[in-house]
Amino acid sequence: MKPWTHYHTPHTVDEALDLLAQYGGRARVVAGGTDLILELQQGHRPPVAALIDVTRIGALQALQADGDTLTLGAGVTHTEIVRSDVLAARATCLVESCGVIGGPQVRNVATLGGNVAHALPAGDGTTSLVALDAEAEIAWGERRRREWAPIGSLFKGPGRSLIDPTRDLLVGFRFALAGPREGSAFKRIMRPQGVALPVLGCAVWLRLDAGARVHAARVCIGPVAPTPVRADVVEAALLGRPVDEATIAKAVAAAQGVAAPAHEQVPRHGGLSRRDGGSAAAPGAPAGGAAGHDGRGGAGGGGAGVTRRHESR
Ligand SMILES: Cc1cc2nc3c(=O)[nH]c(=O)nc-3n(C[C@H](O)[C@H](O)[C@H](O)COP(=O)(O)OP(=O)(O)OC[C@H]3O[C@@H](n4cnc5c(N)ncnc54)[C@H](O)[C@@H]3O)c2cc1C
Repeated sequence: MKPWTHYHTPHTVDEALDLLAQYGGRARVVAGGTDLILELQQGHRPPVAALIDVTRIGALQALQADGDTLTLGAGVTHTEIVRSDVLAARATCLVESCGVIGGPQVRNVATLGGNVAHALPAGDGTTSLVALDAEAEIAWGERRRREWAPIGSLFKGPGRSLIDPTRDLLVGFRFALAGPREGSAFKRIMRPQGVALPVLGCAVWLRLDAGARVHAARVCIGPVAPTPVRADVVEAALLGRPVDEATIAKAVAAAQGVAAPAHEQVPRHGGLSRRDGGSAAAPGAPAGGAAGHDGRGGAGGGGAGVTRRHESR
Protein backbone atom coordinates (compact mmCIF):
# COMPACT_ATOMS: atom_id res chain seq x y z
CA MET A 1 0.00 0.00 0.00
CA LYS A 2 1.26 3.51 -0.82
CA PRO A 3 2.20 5.58 2.28
CA TRP A 4 -0.10 8.35 0.97
CA THR A 5 -2.49 8.65 -1.96
CA HIS A 6 -3.08 12.39 -2.48
CA TYR A 7 -0.80 15.39 -1.95
CA HIS A 8 -2.20 18.92 -1.46
CA THR A 9 -0.39 22.26 -1.27
CA PRO A 10 -2.80 24.82 0.23
CA HIS A 11 -1.86 28.51 0.35
CA THR A 12 -3.80 29.61 3.42
CA VAL A 13 -4.42 28.29 6.93
CA ASP A 14 -8.17 28.05 6.24
CA GLU A 15 -7.58 26.08 3.06
CA ALA A 16 -5.36 23.64 4.98
CA LEU A 17 -7.97 23.24 7.74
CA ASP A 18 -10.70 22.69 5.13
CA LEU A 19 -8.66 19.94 3.51
CA LEU A 20 -7.94 18.27 6.84
CA ALA A 21 -11.65 18.44 7.71
CA GLN A 22 -12.64 16.98 4.35
CA TYR A 23 -10.49 13.93 4.99
CA GLY A 24 -11.92 13.56 8.49
CA GLY A 25 -8.70 12.42 10.19
CA ARG A 26 -7.34 10.43 7.24
CA ALA A 27 -4.97 13.19 6.08
CA ARG A 28 -1.91 14.57 7.86
CA VAL A 29 0.07 17.80 7.81
CA VAL A 30 3.56 17.58 6.35
CA ALA A 31 6.19 20.35 6.41
CA GLY A 32 9.82 19.42 5.66
CA GLY A 33 8.91 15.75 5.88
CA THR A 34 12.23 14.78 7.51
CA ASP A 35 10.41 12.97 10.31
CA LEU A 36 7.07 12.14 8.77
CA ILE A 37 8.07 10.78 5.37
CA LEU A 38 10.56 8.40 6.97
CA GLU A 39 7.95 7.25 9.48
CA LEU A 40 5.45 6.59 6.70
CA GLN A 41 7.96 4.90 4.43
CA GLN A 42 9.32 2.70 7.21
CA GLY A 43 5.84 1.69 8.34
CA HIS A 44 6.09 3.38 11.75
CA ARG A 45 2.87 5.18 10.85
CA PRO A 46 -0.09 3.74 8.95
CA PRO A 47 -0.62 5.06 5.41
CA VAL A 48 -2.70 8.23 5.08
CA ALA A 49 -5.19 9.19 2.41
CA ALA A 50 -3.49 12.53 1.87
CA LEU A 51 -0.60 14.71 2.92
CA ILE A 52 -1.34 18.40 3.41
CA ASP A 53 1.90 20.26 2.64
CA VAL A 54 1.93 23.51 4.63
CA THR A 55 5.17 24.97 3.30
CA ARG A 56 3.41 27.34 0.85
CA ILE A 57 1.23 29.00 3.47
CA GLY A 58 2.46 32.58 3.87
CA ALA A 59 1.48 32.85 7.54
CA LEU A 60 3.78 29.94 8.37
CA GLN A 61 6.80 31.67 6.83
CA ALA A 62 6.91 34.77 9.05
CA LEU A 63 10.18 35.78 10.66
CA GLN A 64 9.46 39.21 12.01
CA ALA A 65 10.60 41.36 14.90
CA ASP A 66 8.02 43.79 16.21
CA GLY A 67 9.80 45.82 18.87
CA ASP A 68 11.02 43.31 21.40
CA THR A 69 8.73 40.48 20.25
CA LEU A 70 9.71 37.98 17.59
CA THR A 71 7.09 36.14 15.56
CA LEU A 72 8.28 33.01 13.81
CA GLY A 73 6.16 30.92 11.44
CA ALA A 74 5.99 27.18 12.05
CA GLY A 75 7.17 26.62 8.47
CA VAL A 76 10.45 28.51 8.89
CA THR A 77 13.34 26.12 8.29
CA HIS A 78 16.28 25.60 10.61
CA THR A 79 18.58 27.08 7.95
CA GLU A 80 16.48 30.26 7.82
CA ILE A 81 16.65 30.52 11.61
CA VAL A 82 20.43 30.07 11.60
CA ARG A 83 20.80 32.82 8.99
CA SER A 84 18.77 35.38 10.92
CA ASP A 85 20.88 38.17 12.43
CA VAL A 86 18.18 39.25 14.87
CA LEU A 87 17.79 35.71 16.19
CA ALA A 88 21.56 35.21 16.46
CA ALA A 89 21.86 38.38 18.52
CA ARG A 90 18.68 38.20 20.60
CA ALA A 91 17.55 34.54 20.68
CA THR A 92 20.94 32.91 20.52
CA CYS A 93 19.93 29.56 21.98
CA LEU A 94 17.44 28.99 19.17
CA VAL A 95 20.07 29.64 16.50
CA GLU A 96 22.56 27.41 18.31
CA SER A 97 20.07 24.55 18.61
CA CYS A 98 18.63 24.76 15.09
CA GLY A 99 22.19 24.99 13.77
CA VAL A 100 23.07 21.50 15.01
CA ILE A 101 19.93 19.70 13.83
CA GLY A 102 20.82 16.98 11.33
CA GLY A 103 23.08 18.09 8.49
CA PRO A 104 22.63 20.93 5.98
CA GLN A 105 20.23 18.91 3.82
CA VAL A 106 17.94 18.26 6.77
CA ARG A 107 18.18 21.86 8.02
CA ASN A 108 17.33 23.25 4.57
CA VAL A 109 13.88 21.67 4.59
CA ALA A 110 13.09 20.72 8.19
CA THR A 111 10.99 23.26 10.07
CA LEU A 112 10.76 24.47 13.64
CA GLY A 113 7.04 23.68 13.56
CA GLY A 114 7.78 20.08 12.62
CA ASN A 115 10.27 19.84 15.47
CA VAL A 116 7.63 21.02 17.96
CA ALA A 117 4.67 19.12 16.47
CA HIS A 118 6.69 15.90 16.62
CA ALA A 119 6.66 16.49 20.40
CA LEU A 120 9.85 14.70 21.34
CA PRO A 121 11.51 15.68 24.63
CA ALA A 122 14.81 15.62 22.72
CA GLY A 123 13.81 18.06 19.97
CA ASP A 124 16.62 20.60 19.90
CA GLY A 125 14.58 23.56 18.62
CA THR A 126 11.83 22.72 21.10
CA THR A 127 14.29 22.75 24.02
CA SER A 128 15.28 26.32 23.14
CA LEU A 129 11.70 27.49 22.66
CA VAL A 130 10.92 26.28 26.19
CA ALA A 131 13.89 28.23 27.59
CA LEU A 132 12.73 31.29 25.62
CA ASP A 133 9.27 30.90 27.22
CA ALA A 134 7.72 30.97 23.76
CA GLU A 135 4.04 30.81 22.97
CA ALA A 136 2.68 28.75 20.10
CA GLU A 137 -0.20 29.73 17.85
CA ILE A 138 -2.52 26.87 16.98
CA ALA A 139 -5.32 26.85 14.44
CA TRP A 140 -7.76 24.33 15.90
CA GLY A 141 -9.53 22.36 13.18
CA GLU A 142 -12.73 21.54 14.99
CA ARG A 143 -13.27 24.85 16.74
CA ARG A 144 -12.02 26.88 13.78
CA ARG A 145 -10.24 29.19 16.18
CA ARG A 146 -6.67 30.43 16.37
CA GLU A 147 -5.22 30.54 19.88
CA TRP A 148 -1.91 31.30 21.54
CA ALA A 149 -0.75 28.81 24.15
CA PRO A 150 2.40 28.58 26.29
CA ILE A 151 4.77 26.16 24.58
CA GLY A 152 5.00 23.99 27.70
CA SER A 153 1.26 23.40 27.67
CA LEU A 154 1.34 21.56 24.34
CA PHE A 155 3.15 18.37 25.28
CA LYS A 156 1.43 15.24 26.59
CA GLY A 157 4.16 12.60 26.29
CA PRO A 158 6.81 11.37 23.85
CA GLY A 159 5.41 12.06 20.39
CA ARG A 160 2.09 13.27 21.80
CA SER A 161 0.81 16.82 22.00
CA LEU A 162 -2.44 18.74 22.09
CA ILE A 163 -2.00 19.40 18.37
CA ASP A 164 -3.55 16.72 16.21
CA PRO A 165 -1.76 17.01 12.83
CA THR A 166 -4.67 15.21 11.19
CA ARG A 167 -6.96 18.12 12.17
CA ASP A 168 -5.03 21.10 13.59
CA LEU A 169 -2.28 23.37 12.37
CA LEU A 170 0.63 24.81 14.29
CA VAL A 171 0.87 28.31 12.83
CA GLY A 172 3.89 29.79 14.60
CA PHE A 173 5.61 31.04 17.72
CA ARG A 174 6.27 34.29 19.52
CA PHE A 175 8.69 35.16 22.28
CA ALA A 176 10.50 38.13 23.79
CA LEU A 177 13.84 38.97 22.24
CA ALA A 178 16.74 39.38 24.65
CA GLY A 179 17.05 42.88 26.06
CA PRO A 180 19.87 44.53 28.00
CA ARG A 181 21.60 42.11 30.43
CA GLU A 182 19.66 39.17 28.95
CA GLY A 183 21.05 36.34 26.88
CA SER A 184 20.70 32.65 26.05
CA ALA A 185 22.77 29.70 24.90
CA PHE A 186 22.32 26.06 23.85
CA LYS A 187 24.70 23.10 24.08
CA ARG A 188 24.17 19.42 23.51
CA ILE A 189 25.93 16.08 23.83
CA MET A 190 25.75 13.79 20.82
CA ARG A 191 26.89 10.29 20.03
CA PRO A 192 30.24 10.60 18.21
CA GLN A 193 28.75 9.65 14.85
CA GLY A 194 25.41 11.22 15.68
CA VAL A 195 23.15 12.87 13.13
CA ALA A 196 19.90 12.21 14.96
CA LEU A 197 18.53 13.24 18.34
CA PRO A 198 20.91 14.30 21.12
CA VAL A 199 21.88 12.30 24.20
CA LEU A 200 21.32 15.51 26.12
CA GLY A 201 20.52 19.08 25.12
CA CYS A 202 20.38 22.14 27.34
CA ALA A 203 19.11 25.66 26.67
CA VAL A 204 19.65 28.45 29.19
CA TRP A 205 18.16 31.94 29.27
CA LEU A 206 19.41 34.44 31.87
CA ARG A 207 18.71 37.98 32.94
CA LEU A 208 21.29 39.68 35.15
CA ASP A 209 20.62 42.55 37.52
CA ALA A 210 22.62 45.76 37.66
CA GLY A 211 25.12 44.05 39.97
CA ALA A 212 25.64 41.22 37.42
CA ARG A 213 23.82 38.68 39.59
CA VAL A 214 21.30 36.29 38.08
CA HIS A 215 17.93 38.01 38.40
CA ALA A 216 15.90 35.49 36.35
CA ALA A 217 16.71 32.14 34.80
CA ARG A 218 15.02 29.62 32.53
CA VAL A 219 16.69 26.29 31.87
CA CYS A 220 15.38 23.47 29.70
CA ILE A 221 17.16 20.12 29.58
CA GLY A 222 16.06 17.32 27.27
CA PRO A 223 15.38 14.46 27.09
CA VAL A 224 15.10 13.85 30.84
CA ALA A 225 11.32 13.49 31.05
CA PRO A 226 8.51 12.35 28.77
CA THR A 227 7.97 15.96 27.71
CA PRO A 228 10.24 19.01 27.32
CA VAL A 229 10.52 20.50 30.80
CA ARG A 230 12.07 23.35 32.73
CA ALA A 231 14.78 22.34 35.20
CA ASP A 232 13.62 24.17 38.31
CA VAL A 233 16.43 23.04 40.56
CA VAL A 234 19.02 24.33 38.10
CA GLU A 235 17.23 27.65 37.83
CA ALA A 236 17.14 27.88 41.64
CA ALA A 237 20.88 27.18 41.79
CA LEU A 238 21.51 30.20 39.58
CA LEU A 239 19.15 32.76 41.08
CA GLY A 240 20.65 35.67 42.99
CA ARG A 241 24.22 34.58 42.34
CA PRO A 242 27.04 36.17 40.38
CA VAL A 243 27.97 34.42 37.16
CA ASP A 244 31.25 32.89 38.28
CA GLU A 245 32.88 29.47 38.51
CA ALA A 246 31.25 28.66 41.85
CA THR A 247 27.74 29.41 40.58
CA ILE A 248 28.32 27.44 37.40
CA ALA A 249 29.61 24.47 39.43
CA LYS A 250 26.49 24.62 41.61
CA ALA A 251 24.21 24.76 38.55
CA VAL A 252 26.06 21.88 36.91
CA ALA A 253 25.68 19.75 40.05
CA ALA A 254 21.95 20.51 40.09
CA ALA A 255 21.71 19.69 36.39
CA GLN A 256 23.43 16.36 36.94
CA GLY A 257 20.71 15.50 39.45
CA VAL A 258 17.98 16.37 36.96
CA ALA A 259 19.70 14.43 34.18
CA ALA A 260 20.06 11.26 36.25
CA PRO A 261 16.61 9.72 35.98
CA ALA A 262 15.40 7.56 38.82
CA HIS A 263 14.36 4.71 36.54
CA GLU A 264 15.77 3.07 33.48
CA GLN A 265 14.95 4.86 30.24
CA VAL A 266 14.32 2.81 27.16
CA PRO A 267 14.81 4.40 23.75
CA ARG A 268 11.79 3.60 21.62
CA HIS A 269 10.37 4.92 18.40
CA GLY A 270 8.95 8.34 19.14
CA GLY A 271 11.26 9.19 22.03
CA LEU A 272 12.11 8.07 25.50
CA SER A 273 9.85 5.89 27.54
CA ARG A 274 10.09 4.24 30.92
CA ARG A 275 9.55 0.57 31.57
CA ASP A 276 7.70 1.35 34.76
CA GLY A 277 5.73 4.17 33.17
CA GLY A 278 6.78 6.36 36.10
CA SER A 279 7.55 10.05 36.21
CA ALA A 280 10.91 11.59 35.44
CA ALA A 281 11.55 12.49 39.05
CA ALA A 282 15.20 12.96 39.83
CA PRO A 283 16.33 11.19 42.99
CA GLY A 284 16.61 13.44 45.97
CA ALA A 285 15.00 16.42 44.28
CA PRO A 286 12.24 18.27 46.11
CA ALA A 287 8.76 17.00 45.40
CA GLY A 288 6.21 18.94 43.47
CA GLY A 289 8.57 21.26 41.62
CA ALA A 290 9.31 24.83 42.62
CA ALA A 291 7.86 28.16 41.69
CA GLY A 292 8.98 29.68 38.41
CA HIS A 293 12.41 31.25 38.28
CA ASP A 294 11.92 33.45 35.27
CA GLY A 295 10.80 36.47 37.20
CA ARG A 296 7.17 35.79 36.22
CA GLY A 297 6.27 33.34 38.99
CA GLY A 298 5.48 30.36 36.73
CA ALA A 299 3.41 27.50 38.12
CA GLY A 300 5.02 24.42 39.65
CA GLY A 301 3.85 20.82 39.44
CA GLY A 302 4.98 17.70 37.63
CA GLY A 303 8.15 15.77 38.36
CA ALA A 304 10.67 16.72 41.00
CA GLY A 305 13.51 18.84 39.73
CA VAL A 306 11.78 19.38 36.44
CA THR A 307 8.42 21.00 35.94
CA ARG A 308 5.74 20.80 33.28
CA ARG A 309 4.16 24.20 33.11
CA HIS A 310 0.73 25.38 32.09
CA GLU A 311 -1.00 22.01 32.07
CA SER A 312 -4.21 23.78 31.25
CA ARG A 313 -5.85 21.44 28.72
C1 LIG B 1 19.05 12.62 9.48
C2 LIG B 1 18.19 13.34 10.47
C3 LIG B 1 18.79 14.00 11.51
C4 LIG B 1 18.01 14.68 12.45
N1 LIG B 1 18.63 15.34 13.47
C5 LIG B 1 17.89 15.98 14.39
C6 LIG B 1 18.54 16.66 15.47
O1 LIG B 1 19.76 16.70 15.58
N2 LIG B 1 17.75 17.29 16.38
C7 LIG B 1 16.38 17.29 16.28
O2 LIG B 1 15.72 17.89 17.11
N3 LIG B 1 15.75 16.66 15.27
C8 LIG B 1 16.47 16.00 14.32
N4 LIG B 1 15.84 15.33 13.30
C9 LIG B 1 14.38 15.30 13.28
C10 LIG B 1 13.72 16.34 12.32
O3 LIG B 1 14.54 16.72 11.26
C11 LIG B 1 13.31 17.60 13.06
O4 LIG B 1 12.46 17.27 14.14
C12 LIG B 1 12.56 18.59 12.14
O5 LIG B 1 12.51 19.84 12.75
C13 LIG B 1 11.18 18.13 11.74
O6 LIG B 1 10.63 19.12 10.90
P1 LIG B 1 9.89 18.77 9.54
O7 LIG B 1 9.43 20.07 8.97
O8 LIG B 1 10.74 17.92 8.66
O9 LIG B 1 8.66 17.93 10.10
P2 LIG B 1 7.75 16.85 9.34
O10 LIG B 1 8.50 15.59 9.18
O11 LIG B 1 7.14 17.45 8.13
O12 LIG B 1 6.61 16.67 10.45
C14 LIG B 1 6.89 16.16 11.73
C15 LIG B 1 5.57 15.98 12.50
O13 LIG B 1 4.98 17.23 12.76
C16 LIG B 1 3.70 17.37 12.10
N5 LIG B 1 3.71 18.74 11.60
C17 LIG B 1 4.68 19.36 10.87
N6 LIG B 1 4.39 20.66 10.70
C18 LIG B 1 3.19 20.88 11.32
C19 LIG B 1 2.36 22.03 11.50
N7 LIG B 1 2.70 23.25 11.02
N8 LIG B 1 1.20 21.87 12.17
C20 LIG B 1 0.83 20.66 12.68
N9 LIG B 1 1.61 19.54 12.57
C21 LIG B 1 2.76 19.65 11.89
C22 LIG B 1 3.67 16.28 11.04
O14 LIG B 1 2.36 15.82 10.76
C23 LIG B 1 4.51 15.21 11.70
O15 LIG B 1 3.74 14.50 12.64
C24 LIG B 1 16.59 14.66 12.33
C25 LIG B 1 15.99 14.00 11.25
C26 LIG B 1 16.78 13.34 10.34
C27 LIG B 1 16.11 12.63 9.19
